[in-house]
Amino acid sequence: MSEIALLSQVREYLAAQHGSFIHGRYQLPETGGTVAVVNPATAQPIAHVRHADDATIAAAVASSASAFRGAWADTSPYQRGVVLNRLADLMEAHSEELAQLETLCSGKSIHLSRAFEVGQSAVFLRYFAGWATKIRGETITPSFPSTAGERYTAFTRHEPVGVVAGIVPWNFSVMIGIWKIAAALTTGCTVIIKPSESTPLTLLRVAELAIEAGLPPGVLNVVNGDGACAQALIADPGVAKVSFTGSVPTGRSVGQAAMAANLTRVTLELGGKNAAALLRDVDVDLAVAGLVQTGYVHQGQVCAAPERVYVHRSRVDEVLTKVGAALRTITIGSPLDESVQFGPLATAGQFEKMCGFFELARQQGEIVHGGEILDRPGYFVQPTAVLAKRADDRLLHEETFGPLIGFLPYGDEDELPGLINDSALGLAASVWTNDLSRAMRLIPQIEAGTVWVNMHTFLDPAVPFGGMKGSGVGREFGSAFIDDYTELKSVMIRF
Ligand code: NAD
Repeated sequence: MSEIALLSQVREYLAAQHGSFIHGRYQLPETGGTVAVVNPATAQPIAHVRHADDATIAAAVASSASAFRGAWADTSPYQRGVVLNRLADLMEAHSEELAQLETLCSGKSIHLSRAFEVGQSAVFLRYFAGWATKIRGETITPSFPSTAGERYTAFTRHEPVGVVAGIVPWNFSVMIGIWKIAAALTTGCTVIIKPSESTPLTLLRVAELAIEAGLPPGVLNVVNGDGACAQALIADPGVAKVSFTGSVPTGRSVGQAAMAANLTRVTLELGGKNAAALLRDVDVDLAVAGLVQTGYVHQGQVCAAPERVYVHRSRVDEVLTKVGAALRTITIGSPLDESVQFGPLATAGQFEKMCGFFELARQQGEIVHGGEILDRPGYFVQPTAVLAKRADDRLLHEETFGPLIGFLPYGDEDELPGLINDSALGLAASVWTNDLSRAMRLIPQIEAGTVWVNMHTFLDPAVPFGGMKGSGVGREFGSAFIDDYTELKSVMIRF
């Protein structure tokens, strides 16, 4: 087991002093504090970033506003698609550099960084690029009666809303950043990205590559900072829309700030406490493989990951035996080691939070596997499975956003809608059965933005994604994003 060698350009990038990227150039804010970026695999600082001050945020918004009206909104849809495709090509050409940077900041396995932060980002960019030439309104014949022989016609136009503020979490910082960048740019908006303070570097480099791809300066700006920086961005009257992905409490405060600023339109992609329901006829091997893969990938730090699993009482022993066996085979270690499957948690805060959940698991449930921290530097814990005792256990209700799945037996499938919907959140759920008819009857009863059958956490650019209830407002992907990034203007003509 050994770590891959870091590219020389990655070492040089880490050594540079970073700040924001505005109007096509790296900028060091004059008064913002300097914050260390910590490698979660070692708990050691690896780079330093100066956070944006008020002047930097104002400069970013002014730059994005001038790039919107002066250039990008008037660019032909075809040209917008061409630039997004070129950015996808450049990200792939710089795949290893971007993947190494992201793994160093987030603790994500190098395989995941290559496949998702770069590979899937390119897929999403190309999907959205295709939409640039296909966004269109409709023609309408008004119902007015003609009083003197005059006629009427009407049509609608989707016009870009303007400057978008994209606020991004640390778990898939590049890919989630790209979702916002691609949706904004394809509709003709300009965008300011505010990465998480834990993972501030890779999106800066992506913004530089976007200039190389032919994006005019100011169309994509990146400002680094914490929650105060994000709030200053939201409060700026030049921002027309906020697209936020992150936790539920922060999302609520973002929604309130956006309303208070200027009734600024806002979409919120928030957390989940995602249920999986294993029916009596479940294919246990398929379900266990699927849940172990999606529940523990990136150390469980995936918004749609299964965190509570309801298993028919007749299958629970078999399921738990196989889950325990699968977890015992997972290799834990440095995310830069290509033979490793499971790395550190992303931040010290995540580590402390998971220690609290492990304590709760010992008190409230029966640990099937895991529940311990690892005696080594960095934020390492074991992948953990717990048999819960009661449906109202906290373990089955609070988002852990970590590598802990709670299992609970049930007796009758009629109980499932009640169990699954007993949550303030409604991001995603999965149903595991060989009986499609039972799955189809259950799906309409489930309060979740996405329901998977015999699979879990599968995000495709063509399939809308977003939460019900406390998991958010709005949908990304498919054609659903168009209404969020454009104003629908009606035009009526008398002739
Ligand atoms: P977080 O809410 O702490 O931070 C998200 C972003 O908001 C960061 O950029 C942060 O700097 C910023 N922020 C922090 N305080 C703020 C404030 N007061 N006002 C405005 N912005 C503020 O979330 P996180 O810990 O980075 O990410 C984990 C959470 O994100 C989990 O709850 C997870 O479920 C959720 N998530 C949801 C999705 C989805 O698509 N639904 C995807 C990924 C992650």
